Amino acid sequence: MFPYVVGLGISGRSVMQYLQQQKISFYCWDDNAQNRPDIEECRSPNDVNWLNITHLILSPGISHTWPKPHLAALKAKQHLISIISDVDLLWAEPSVSAYTVGVTGTNGKSTTAALMQHVLRLNGETFVGGNFGPPALKALEAPYKNVVLELSSFQLDITKSAGLDAAVLLNITTDHIERYGGLPGYVASKLSIFSKLKPGGTAIICTDSLPCGEIFSYLQMHTDLQVIGYSSDNRANEIDTNTYTKLCELANTATLNKQNLIGAYLVAHHKGIPFKQFEEQVLTYQGLAHRQEVVCTHKNVTFINDSKATNIVAANAALCKYNNLFWLGGGVAKEPSFDELETNNITKAYIFGEAASLIEKTLVQKSIPYRRCRTLDEATQWAYEDALKSEAPATVLLSPACASYDQFQHFVERGNVFKAAVKQIVMHTKEATHG
Ligand code: ADP
Repeated sequence: MFPYVVGLGISGRSVMQYLQQQKISFYCWDDNAQNRPDIEECRSPNDVNWLNITHLILSPGISHTWPKPHLAALKAKQHLISIISDVDLLWAEPSVSAYTVGVTGTNGKSTTAALMQHVLRLNGETFVGGNFGPPALKALEAPYKNVVLELSSFQLDITKSAGLDAAVLLNITTDHIERYGGLPGYVASKLSIFSKLKPGGTAIICTDSLPCGEIFSYLQMHTDLQVIGYSSDNRANEIDTNTYTKLCELANTATLNKQNLIGAYLVAHHKGIPFKQFEEQVLTYQGLAHRQEVVCTHKNVTFINDSKATNIVAANAALCKYNNLFWLGGGVAKEPSFDELETNNITKAYIFGEAASLIEKTLVQKSIPYRRCRTLDEATQWAYEDALKSEAPATVLLSPACASYDQFQHFVERGNVFKAAVKQIVMHTKEATHG
């Protein structure tokens, strides 16, 4: 009897490596021939004998329900074989005794997971991984005291066991709902993080978004979990006013989102880390590349790379934070309209890619000056020139509110193109000044 590993990207490969180390024979498959290892055990779902399969270890990127289940998932269901994830393998390891936190939400998962790792280090060696960074099974490579896992809804859907000491839900908005056939399916997926709590585990929920508020009430009424609610305006009232005021000051100083910062604080608090130490540690947090990453300041202009803002809510997090904005946006729209875009701080917009016409409609309606550009390079150049002319402190912000795949492979490439364009601008103006 063999497990069957399907999807051989980063997490699938870590599963194969783990099984090899455990001397467990397995079958494996990836639809992409380039990902398939040249071994006899590599068999398509049509070529394995399903009567010999113990369970299907599926990569989170592969659909097992909506819009159409992958053949492997379909066959597993027909043969009543359970579908599990790499996280289940981690939690099945008897050697793992780390305090484990899971973080989910539509936006802010990686930032919060990385911040938690940074803070929990005060308490001992801490791993961060899962949907961001190294795959979950890498947590087995050292005797970590704490493990922070970023869990996407896709990972939650296929993870069956309960290995979390604390679960944090940051927010729910309408991104990724196409894989669930609508919002209710997506909400159910996010809610399922709390079914991954060990008995006596702690549920931490930011109630800013409506679905999260409903989940908070539901858990309080219908479960005996320890449920802690919080909100950006402290309406949930779980944090004393004094601490809340200090957290708000800290969020401003460290330019961190309150949802993320308070979520990390509640976990640190749960682990007995005093506020003072938490505060000092947060102030040394560097942030992540492509998430409101300050590239540099040149003359009166600060460049910020927020390429990971692939939806309107994520872009709004940055658009609310900076003033005199020369905003770069566009790509592939995820929403049917940009009317929800926070435009108050935008001095001028530079729009590009497939969504440009749609964004233009909103900008015209709100009387925001804009320029249509062919490329991100061109947009960066124009934005810089106008920001420079404005003379006041200005921010050139790439926070596109769209997916990137019309002009780039992914958000990382888009962010790197922006940073390269900024570098060119800075070098040229320096040369021009010296020449
Ligand atoms: P995720 O891992 O959930 O995709 P990231 O931490 O990578 O989230 O951030 C993605 C984008 O969302 C970035 O543009 C970031 O600035 C923005 N963001 C971060 N935290 C939040 C939040 N709590 N609410 C809305 N947007 C956020």
